[in-house]
This record gives sequence, C-alpha cells and structure tokens, in this order.
Amino acid sequence: CGIVGYIGHREAYPIIIKGLERLEYRGYDSAGVALFDGDKINLAKTKGKVSDLKKKSEDTISTKGSIGIGHTRWATHGVPNDVNSHPHYSNSGELVIIHNGIIENYESIKTELIKRGYTFESDTDTEVLINLIEEVQKKENVKLGKAVQLALNEVVGAYAIAVFDIKKPDEIVVAKLGSPLAIGMGDNEFFVASDASPFIEFTNNAVYLEDEEMAIIRLGKEIKLRKIKNDAVA
Ligand code: GLU
Repeated sequence: CGIVGYIGHREAYPIIIKGLERLEYRGYDSAGVALFDGDKINLAKTKGKVSDLKKKSEDTISTKGSIGIGHTRWATHGVPNDVNSHPHYSNSGELVIIHNGIIENYESIKTELIKRGYTFESDTDTEVLINLIEEVQKKENVKLGKAVQLALNEVVGAYAIAVFDIKKPDEIVVAKLGSPLAIGMGDNEFFVASDASPFIEFTNNAVYLEDEEMAIIRLGKEIKLRKIKNDAVA
C-alpha cells in the first residue's frame, strides 16, 4: 500500500501515477486518485492494478490539475472493491483523504457520527476519519490543520494520511503514526509519498515524518513539522 501527493506547478496526474507504480512493490488490491482542477475535484478509483486506475481515470475524468493525491490500498476494513478504494470524501464533499494504516476505534466514532447525521458510502475506517475531521472542523470552527490534529488525538491506530480541502486548494495536510511518510521539497512545489522513490527525479531535498508528527504543506510557505499530541497548530 502507498500514498503519493503533489502540489506545485506541474501536472500532478503523471507524477502520481508514476509514483504509485514505484510503490507497487509494497503490495495492494486497489488504487485511486483525486485531482483538483482549479474548480472541482476529479476522482477515480478502482479495485485492481495501477494500470486499471490509469485506464479508468483517462477514460472517465479530467486528469488536469497541479494538486492531487493518489493511493494504493491494502484493505483492512471493507472488502477490496471500487467503493472502498481511496480517496474518500467527507459528507460535505469538501474534504478528501488517502490513508494507509488502521483506525482501531473507528466503530465507536462512526456510531457517534451517525447520531450526528453523517452517512457512509464505504465500509472503511478511513471514511470515518475524514468525517471526524469534518465534524471537528465545523464544531470547533478551526482550519484544516488544526482539525486534523484534534481528530487524530481521538484516534487509536496507525496511519499515514494526506488530506485536502477544496476550500483551501493551496494546501495538503499530512500526518504519520506507524506507516511511513516522506515529503519532497522542490522549487515552490512539494511531493508526498510513502518513500522517496516517487519524487527522487525531482528533488533530493526530503524530510521523513517521525511517528506522531504532522505537517501543513502550503505553497509559498516553509514546511512546519508539528507534534500531533502537544504542539500548537494554527
Ligand atoms: N484501513 C484502510 C482501509 O482498509 C487503509 C488500508 C491501507 O493501508 O491501504 O481502507
């Protein structure tokens, strides 16, 4: 399983597809991609290989855009099928997530979210996490980075995540506990991946997140690493 993300001035789609191919060695059963075209998110996902995803996305969506996230899934909660594949949207359709790992306490969080009116399309723990982030963002009236931090403090499990908010399309929020996550820093562009292989041809400048670290990756800004447990996140 693996994750790849890009934000910058290049077309994100070819970087993400090639990156997912380089992460195929990690094993997976499904793959997906979400791209922001400046107006809306275009998303394609499928059970099967990255080559199946490539065909599906090129046949069914616009692959334009210089911000995007891609995923290969190794199913832990919910069978391998198209709906359970990542990325996953929040209920508002404004947040989108990719996740490697397991949210162990997802059932109790899901029950609570259902009480508050949330609905779920998939059987994944990941869709629970993105809706928890949305609920926190609304309830506390905080920015995405802070909402991710607060949500992750309620979560038991392991994760490498990348989250994107359609309302703030110059930003990707990432976090890690257990599963690996690297950030590649180029010239006003950033790469996110499970290891450096997806971005090694573009930059040698990489930082690997420690466990319980998160980062807000914003175009034009330096990356700030934050401790999920106790650092201040604006
Ligand atoms: N637990 C998540 C799922 O089953 C992510 C699995 C993975 O690491 O790819 O969808």
